[in-house]
Amino acid sequence: MKKEALSMKPDTPVQYVKGVGPKTAEKFLRLGVETLADLLQLYPRRYIDYTRPFPVAQAPFDADAVVKAAVYSKKAAVRLPGGRTMVQVLAGDGSASLSLTWFNTHFMADKLAVGEEYYFEGRVRGTLTRREIANPTVRTAAQVARTPLVAVYPQTEGLGSGQIARCVASALEGADPLPEPLPSALLAKYKLPGKWEAVRAIHCPEAPEAAAAARRRLTFEELLTLQLGLILLRSRGAARAGAPMRRVDLAPFWASLPFAPTAAQRRAAAEICADMAGAAPLNRLLQGDVGSGKTLVAAAGVYMAHQNGYQSALMAPTEILAAQHAGTLEKLLGPFGVRVALLTGGIKAAAKRAALAAVAAGEADLVVGTHAVLSTGVEFARLGFAVVDEQHRFGVRQRGLLAGKAQSPHVLVMSATPIPRTLGLLLYGDLDISILDELPPGRKPVKTRAVRGEKRRAMYGFLNAQIEAGCQVYIVCPRVEEGEADGPDALSAVKTYYKEVAQALLPGRRVGLMHGKLGPREKAAVMEAFKAGELDALVSTTVIEVGVDVPNATVMVIENAERYGLSALHQLRGRVGRGAQESWCFLVSDHGGESVRERLQFLCHTQDGFEIAKYDLEHRGPGDFFGDRQHGLPTLQLADLTADTRALEAAQKSARELLEQDPKLAAPEHQVLAAQVERLFRRTTFN
Ligand code: ADP
Ligand code: MG
Repeated sequence: MKKEALSMKPDTPVQYVKGVGPKTAEKFLRLGVETLADLLQLYPRRYIDYTRPFPVAQAPFDADAVVKAAVYSKKAAVRLPGGRTMVQVLAGDGSASLSLTWFNTHFMADKLAVGEEYYFEGRVRGTLTRREIANPTVRTAAQVARTPLVAVYPQTEGLGSGQIARCVASALEGADPLPEPLPSALLAKYKLPGKWEAVRAIHCPEAPEAAAAARRRLTFEELLTLQLGLILLRSRGAARAGAPMRRVDLAPFWASLPFAPTAAQRRAAAEICADMAGAAPLNRLLQGDVGSGKTLVAAAGVYMAHQNGYQSALMAPTEILAAQHAGTLEKLLGPFGVRVALLTGGIKAAAKRAALAAVAAGEADLVVGTHAVLSTGVEFARLGFAVVDEQHRFGVRQRGLLAGKAQSPHVLVMSATPIPRTLGLLLYGDLDISILDELPPGRKPVKTRAVRGEKRRAMYGFLNAQIEAGCQVYIVCPRVEEGEADGPDALSAVKTYYKEVAQALLPGRRVGLMHGKLGPREKAAVMEAFKAGELDALVSTTVIEVGVDVPNATVMVIENAERYGLSALHQLRGRVGRGAQESWCFLVSDHGGESVRERLQFLCHTQDGFEIAKYDLEHRGPGDFFGDRQHGLPTLQLADLTADTRALEAAQKSARELLEQDPKLAAPEHQVLAAQVERLFRRTTFN
């Protein structure tokens, strides 16, 4: 019989790792682990540090801590009422005594020798002089010497951190070294340890510094992979030349408006036009808070493209918004001969065919549509300018779709959601930025109030008075589950609310109902009616969250306000306060929690989208930032996109340089890296 240990290849299925087996392999699948290499790249979240144990008296209360103490005495196990058993051990270190209790297991206590010192880890409670830990983990000095930092892994049901650690340890023992994805020049430049060294060190570090070095290296690798993927994703399609345009005087356009553009709008439009007339194509993000007038800036760009004989396209995230934009832009640009075509799922087949033919023949000058329609099968005669509105609603991939059209047009993306610098680098790293830092004159801040459910009747009294005075009201309805903004339950919730609350408390008023399950034509009809003032109130799900512009609406009621991130609430609030009248936003919540009340109060006192986004990010993390992972970025294991700015910048620079040398990552020495990029993005679900 051969004794020689067989080493395992990285792509060996994880079930063949010693100690794993088919059942555990299934659980690993939930953590995204299929192969040996995946297992080795399932990195710990943090470590329990045994190198700096607390003296008993100094252990923090009610927190997990490692304490070093000697065992004084052991008591015999006792049976508790209800059948549980309990073993108690008294320990201490001269600074205080420590009472250790195990329930239903005496195995740990049995191993302890009176007079010996051990490390105990667990939640410390008790009094100042007599500390207690229930069910502590015990480790001996020898064990601590061997593994001073114990890795804590992301767990899943039925697969605890300890078991993952054992599987990783056996994988490390039996595996071939993982291949090195980073070019040696990069390793040298940033003084990074090699892959295999880093992988071993991140699982079983000898000291905190070794863990940190390993993490730094692997974080860099993760960010580099991400950056390469993003750049490759965007550059797919044509080499970008941009449509050549000559400068155009915008004065006639500005003069045609019923109001004066703000200085910020003029500045942004000038920047856009300068880019379009320049050598490199326009590739710009227009960022401006809700209501700052981004549509008008886009219209100026369309005007310029049209004067140059080019078509434009505008992509909106919802049908409602697309229809609204088509109407607005028709009004703004129709007088200059711009022919607008609307392309959404809602229009009739014949009309759609006609619109498509007009676009292909160059008989439509501006096409407004939803992403679903615009990204498939639209042939343009001469597309020169593409606008993506509410960019944060699209994944990174959609932006590429329009840009990738044969003629590679100038691209403007617009967003009201201010993003922190790091996320910005990732999502818009290749973009120039224009900012609208000014609202049109005469806007009053939206008076925002947090309202408890029992005050609903009084609030409706106020709504009735507003309607009496000729104003219109939005009521955004209970959301049922996180992430189910428009699922079947939300639908029944909004219908029930419409019947039992809104209609009952707004007697004799014209109340409309809007939700995502309405057909496109029904949606358009409801929106039209509301816009035309034929409805007093609109009960809706969050389908109206972005972009909708009805200046006569002055009250926004948001039920279950606690369910939304502040940025989403701010967006919803932005539906009112668009005219000169006083506007109101009511955040209805029965949630008694301190943090919820604090969040809602923050919104009551702040109108600034940047401040709000910052608060959201600090309190809820980047996951919430774009709602339901709308940003379309793959999930990262190590990098913290809000904190690792320097690493991100380094990775971005390296990615660019690498792709300059080898645009498709085709060179043999880049194969490991190329496969890794492919894999990171394959696992991502883009929406
Ligand atoms: P957003 O930046 O949120 O997309 P919109 O483009 O929808 O904002 O504009 C919000 C409202 O402000 C619209 O009703 C628009 O007509 C109006 N508006 C835009 N620019 C100005 C301006 N310079 N002066 C007055 N009103 C303006
Ligand atoms: Mg808008």
